[in-house]
Amino acid sequence: MAQLELDSVTKRFGEGDGSILAVDDVNIDIADGEFLVLVGPSGCGKSTTLRMIAGLESITDGEIRLDGQRMNERGPAERDIAMVFQSYALYPHMTVRENMRFGLEESTDLDAAEMDDRVEHTADLLDITELLDRKPGALSGGQQQRVALGRAIVREPKAFLMDEPLSNLDAKLRSQMRTELQQLQADLDTTTVYVTHDQTEAMTMGDRIAILDAGELQQVATPLEAYHRPANRFVAGFIGEPSMNFIDCEVEGDALVAEGLRYPLADEAAAAVAESVTVTLGIRPEDIVVDVDGTPDGAPDGDGRDHTFLATVDVVEPMGDENVVHLSVEEGPGLIATVDGLRQIDAGTAITVTIPEDAIHVFDDASGEALHSRSLDDAELDDARV
Ligand code: ATP
Repeated sequence: MAQLELDSVTKRFGEGDGSILAVDDVNIDIADGEFLVLVGPSGCGKSTTLRMIAGLESITDGEIRLDGQRMNERGPAERDIAMVFQSYALYPHMTVRENMRFGLEESTDLDAAEMDDRVEHTADLLDITELLDRKPGALSGGQQQRVALGRAIVREPKAFLMDEPLSNLDAKLRSQMRTELQQLQADLDTTTVYVTHDQTEAMTMGDRIAILDAGELQQVATPLEAYHRPANRFVAGFIGEPSMNFIDCEVEGDALVAEGLRYPLADEAAAAVAESVTVTLGIRPEDIVVDVDGTPDGAPDGDGRDHTFLATVDVVEPMGDENVVHLSVEEGPGLIATVDGLRQIDAGTAITVTIPEDAIHVFDDASGEALHSRSLDDAELDDARV
């Protein structure tokens, strides 16, 4: 168990004009026993960050510390960190037992009986005891994945690093392994950094998630914080499926104005956008209220501000638990709303949509930074996850 600190960590591949800044001044403190998920689109620098922690890639600038000790100059074998790869990287000519034992032989001076004990205990933990004498070629993808995990766990390292370890599994197995891995990490209480491009994995597995874009850290937060209080437009769009709706607007006094839509703001939100000229209004699909029967009377809502608009349903995608409704505000923007799966809504229907004032986000166009976030009343996001 260990605290892991990334202090202004930077990675540049190559030199001069053609060089690539893959990781740009990243600062993250990962607590002892924490499960941190590094997430972001392809090429954002996730794997490079992980490989620098593992010692597989040199660090151009900054420092990586494990339990307060500088790791920069230490080789991978001297860091007491175990890595699990997407490809599993098992030795095909060795049995499962030998694969798991091999790492111990390389990195510890345990005697043979102690090694056997550890391998058997770990196999028991992962429910792969009956596979110990098989070779990787005779295992399913899910079983190979468990062996790869076992090989990391058996070493009892200070930290685990995992690079998209579930992405070769089919959807059902992936979701099952997600839960198992989370449980396992909680039981072992080993500091873990887990890389994925899949925001569902990030949301469901991490104690906290670190979102990267183009080598730059965008936000480090609990999953719910990132979802409900995204620091900027990038995080808002990346976390959540279907994605948050964005409407390009101009600020006109205390209202946001887009084609076919005028959105009056309450005092606090109006003050937050007062310095901006153009902004993006953000609203999550599940927060849009769709009304099939109601006819908007143009009357302002309770606070004297009208947030209801006439719209038409373009397409409905039934997902079972919910319907994803693609709609167009009259003469205005297209939006995506989600409604209960049992609600019958047909394409072509004239509807009204309400964009509730307490659920909106506003982002500055120039910087992308959040100027105003949805209200959460008394929600305690830090403690919301059990
Ligand atoms: P993916 O999800 O596709 O694996 P990633 O977020 O893990 O992406 P990295 O593999 O860390 O991204 O790559 C970050 C950037 O660094 C990319 O622009 C990539 O092309 C570049 N890069 C990575 N490795 C090297 C290398 N060895 N030499 C030059 N450029 C590299």
